[in-house]
This record gives sequence, C-alpha cells and structure tokens, in this order.
Amino acid sequence: MIDNEKNVNISEHVKCLIIGSGPAGYTAAIYASRANMYPVLYEGLQPGGQLTTTTEVDNFPGYPNGITGTELMEDLKKQAVRFGSDIRFGYATQTDLTSNVHKVQIDGEKWISADSVIIATGATAKYLGIPSEEKFKGFGVSACATCDGFFYRGKVVAVVGGGDTACEEASYLAGLCKKVYVIVRKNYFRASKAMQHRTLNTPNIEVLFEHQTKEITGNQQGVTGVILINANGEDVKLDIDGFFVAIGHVPNSDIFKPFIQMDETGYIQTLAGTTKTNVAGVFACGDVQDKNYRQAITAAGTGCMAALDAERYLGEK
Ligand code: NDP
Repeated sequence: MIDNEKNVNISEHVKCLIIGSGPAGYTAAIYASRANMYPVLYEGLQPGGQLTTTTEVDNFPGYPNGITGTELMEDLKKQAVRFGSDIRFGYATQTDLTSNVHKVQIDGEKWISADSVIIATGATAKYLGIPSEEKFKGFGVSACATCDGFFYRGKVVAVVGGGDTACEEASYLAGLCKKVYVIVRKNYFRASKAMQHRTLNTPNIEVLFEHQTKEITGNQQGVTGVILINANGEDVKLDIDGFFVAIGHVPNSDIFKPFIQMDETGYIQTLAGTTKTNVAGVFACGDVQDKNYRQAITAAGTGCMAALDAERYLGEK
C-alpha cells in the first residue's frame, strides 16, 4: 500500500501499535490485547527496558520475596503474549503523526500505519562514561536508589550529582545506610533550596563539593571504593560499598519531536489525568512522560491508562 501524503510504502496496518517494552509498554499490551485491540509491540533497543539493568526488584507489589528485574520483565511479557499481544524485536526509527492514521518506521526500513499509537519508550539514565563505572554496573554501581538502596543497609555509599535527583536519592539512602557521600562537581548544588537544605542537614550525609569521579575501584564481589579528584587536582580515596549515579535522565523521545508536545527537556506532555498527547490517537506512558516518580509500578499504572485511553479513542472513532 502506498501512502500518497508521505509517499512511503506502508507494509502493514495495525489497530494499536505500542513502542517500548518496559513495564509501561507491556502493561499497555496486556490491557490492549484483552480489549481485542490486537496490539503489536516493538521492544526497542533494550528489550525489557531499564529494569533489566538492575538486580533485585523488591518494591514491585505482588512479589513478597522480591524478583530480579529481568524475571519481572519476562513475566510481564509472557502475560502480554498469553492474551495475544504480538511482541516483536525491532525499534522505531521515524514517525509521521500528521494524519489520522499514524505512521511509524521500524528498523530504518518498513513503515507501519496504526489507528492508535502508545509511546512507552522510557528514559535512559545518564552515566559518567568512565570504564570502571561500566565494569561495576549492577555490581555496586546503580542509577536507582529506590531500586537498589536496600542492598546497602548499614553500609557506606556515594551519590554523584548535584540536582534534585541526587539530593532525593541521598536522603533516601541516608535512611538506610551508615554514611552517604554526595559528590558534586561544582561548588554549589543545582537542586532546589529545600532539597539542598535537607541534604546539608542530614547528619550521616557528607557533601563533597568540587570533586569529580576519577575511578571506581572494587573486586570480584563488587565496589569497594572510589577515587575522586578535588579542586586542587589531588586524588581523594573513599571506602564505599555502593556508587549511585544521579546526574539526570534523558527521555527517549527524539523521534516524536516534530509532532508531539514536550517540555524543554524532552519529556512528553500529556493532558492532566490522562495519557493523551496533543495528537489524537497518540498516547504516552511510563518514564518518557514522567520525570518525577520514575518507578516500575507507576510506569505500569500509566501503561494501563494508555491502553484504556486508546480503547476509548478507537471506540469513539
Ligand atoms: P539535573 O539535570 O537537574 O541535575 C543533574 C546534576 O548532575 C547536576 O548537578 C549536574 O552538575 C550533575 N552532573 C551532570 N553531569 C555530570 C557529570 N558528568 N559528572 C558529575 N556531575 C554531573 O537532573 P536531575 O535528575 O537531578 O533532575 C531532573 C529534573 O527533574 C529537574 O528539573 C528536577 O528539578 C526534577 N526533579 C524533581 C524532583 C522533585 O521535585 N521531587 C525529584 C527529582 C528530579 P552541574 O550542575 O554542574 O551541571
């Protein structure tokens, strides 16, 4: 089928296209398939999403003994498949959301058209980009205190970053850990005054301004320390058990930019209390539209909302 408007070859038409395979995408698929919307879900570059980079997940309701991030995502996927979701490997590379029938290009090749699109592409945590950080990812290096903080009860950890996320993570960790270092590269915080105040006035938090991370050290068991560089260019060694990176997230929203309203940092804006974007028939759920909560359970909740919103939209169409 040739679409004249953009002159692209449409190889397939679907009722509901879900882009992304974190808790939001899979939950949307579970609800959409049970509502006979025959969803097709493209998993993206990291099937299972951010949770597959963490170890244990202890805060997802329904798992009293915890579950690994990978197992949780496998379970969600199986549940979506059980109701007939068509889950495919591949990622969305371009979109055209100008008309009633939305078009999405997959893997830089084929174009699919869809009556409704659910965007669940998530966000990617920023990392420092040093080799030792990569080496200990999942073994003492984490980008999520609420996911992994529990494993460091009574231990010493460091949080890098000077924004609200770093301060919030440090406060959370201070409630669990013996000591929390906060490593800030400038001589001031970027965080809100209230968060700064809380961080600076928590007895077991020590803030190290004007320090940069040079190397994370460790052994087979995981992280044992970090080497920082202070304002005078000198090395400062700290003994730590965990290293938390909290230098921001990037929403995976680039391919929607020409069509979908976003805030200045690229988070998709939805109509309050719904998952509706500014384009009729296009819905957004999970971390790509949420910079505040960013939890698996909140992502799953908005995934459910997106499927229900899409179902109503298709019903009215
Ligand atoms: P921000 O972009 O606000 O802050 C990132 C921090 O990380 C900055 O201090 C930055 O330093 C530092 N940083 C960036 N790159 C590096 C690096 N390579 N090495 C060392 N430090 C680095 O991100 P956040 O995730 O903190 O917040 C994002 C948004 O979400 C903000 O608008 C925030 O207000 C909001 N938010 C709100 C919350 C709430 O209201 N409860 C909770 C969490 C976030 P520098 O300042 O030098 O650039």
